[in-house]
Amino acid sequence: MIPRLSPSRHRRLLSLALLLTASQAWALNNTGEVRGKTRDIAQEKAQEEEQTSAVAKAENLKLDHPVITELGPPTDAADKQQNTPANTQEPPLPRAENLQLDQPIGELEPSSKEAPSKTAVNSPIQPKPPAAGTVSLEMEKAKPLRLLGAEVAPATSTRLAWSPRQHFEGVYSPTAVLVVNGAKPGPVLCLTAAVHGDELNGVETVRRVMYDLDAEQLSGAVIGVPIVNLQGFHRSSRYLTDRRDLNRHFPGDPNGSSASRIANSFFHEVISHCNAVVDLHTGSFYRTNLPQLRGDLSNPRIVKMTKGFGSTVVLHSAGAKGTLRRAAAEAGIPTVTLEAGAPMVLDERSVSHSVKGIRTLLNQLGMVSKFRLWGDPEPVYYNSTWQRASTGGIIFSEVQLGEFVSKGALLGTVTNPITNVRTEIRSEHNGRILGMALDQVVQPGFAAYHIGIQAPQEQISQPEEVVAEDTPAQKPQSQASKSAAKSSDNTADLEGDED
Ligand SMILES: [Zn+2]
Repeated sequence: MIPRLSPSRHRRLLSLALLLTASQAWALNNTGEVRGKTRDIAQEKAQEEEQTSAVAKAENLKLDHPVITELGPPTDAADKQQNTPANTQEPPLPRAENLQLDQPIGELEPSSKEAPSKTAVNSPIQPKPPAAGTVSLEMEKAKPLRLLGAEVAPATSTRLAWSPRQHFEGVYSPTAVLVVNGAKPGPVLCLTAAVHGDELNGVETVRRVMYDLDAEQLSGAVIGVPIVNLQGFHRSSRYLTDRRDLNRHFPGDPNGSSASRIANSFFHEVISHCNAVVDLHTGSFYRTNLPQLRGDLSNPRIVKMTKGFGSTVVLHSAGAKGTLRRAAAEAGIPTVTLEAGAPMVLDERSVSHSVKGIRTLLNQLGMVSKFRLWGDPEPVYYNSTWQRASTGGIIFSEVQLGEFVSKGALLGTVTNPITNVRTEIRSEHNGRILGMALDQVVQPGFAAYHIGIQAPQEQISQPEEVVAEDTPAQKPQSQASKSAAKSSDNTADLEGDED
């Protein structure tokens, strides 16, 4: 029952020690050559002995032994089939420890396994041994969840780790994967956040949802990944270290670019285990979004999912190619994006709305049995359009997110800081502000206000898709090409409100 992480961490340390020893040896050798190979062997031996007594002895292993096998995360079932077709028998997996999700990471070592955590009192997840004889039907028993090289028994909360495997250092900070496998059978719902590393509201949303779950009461399982793009998160960046957008590379390719390999690993090791996915995002590039769902409403399973969120704004969009949402939907896993707020900031309104929406979904999916959390459980469907700045300058808004506006209403002004010329942006529709630019300096053509026009679900069309400003190859389009893009299967980035 020892978690796999610990031995690999141990091996990682040993490999590091080995590398250091090897470089020291190399340095010693070189110095020796310069001195005309008159090394004091006795002194060296003494040093060696001193080292042996002070630190743990390094494991004897071949230096050309692949780092992946030594340090990488456990291979998933799909990879095993690919790599070793002869081995058809699935090996037994180590059973994941049942633990309090909020237990500090340092206490997760096997040595502390016996000691009852002091934080357990405050934990919403109180694992108990399964009560014997309480399950009436054998058929309705919950199944263990096999994920990331571990088996999570029913009525178990645990924390696993996912790491992409392509890094040459062999050391990639593992990404935490929180798992609550319920005592009762049901679907597997996955929550992913910070696929864009600078989008923080989802991180907090996943935390609140996961720590409110009770494994004893849950039907099915919830897998929560608070920070998918750890590389970007550490640098407060939307992107991976190579400036690639991870959310344009799903489902990925094991032999593709770095981003594509990371996407592939995540898709196969985590997403493929889900029956439904909620991918949490925020507006991008200094824009903020009213909490809203985006999903391909031509897919009835996704429509059903959007109805589970209660009173939430819903926009129809198939999703740009390479988004986690689109790739998962194409793989038969109904997926929606939940957009709320702006990047780089945490805001309580966005987080609490998102949490409420996901809890309502859990309730609607029959995974938790609580009263409905919304007075009005119906989602509201919108068609949408962008209103742009016609001139460049400093934009100040006169409206607020979520506000209802009538045609002709003043949305904001753009003032040229050099000439002091001020232009107004007025609403072309009766609608609602679903997304908007934060006060900032804008270029002419900047998509400033995302106006929603309420419509029945059946009449919702794809929102206007325009290119992201940070992609130099794709300049803002002319009106004609924009309307052409609107009707075609556009794979360009969505601007401002993109997944
Ligand atoms: Zn995003």
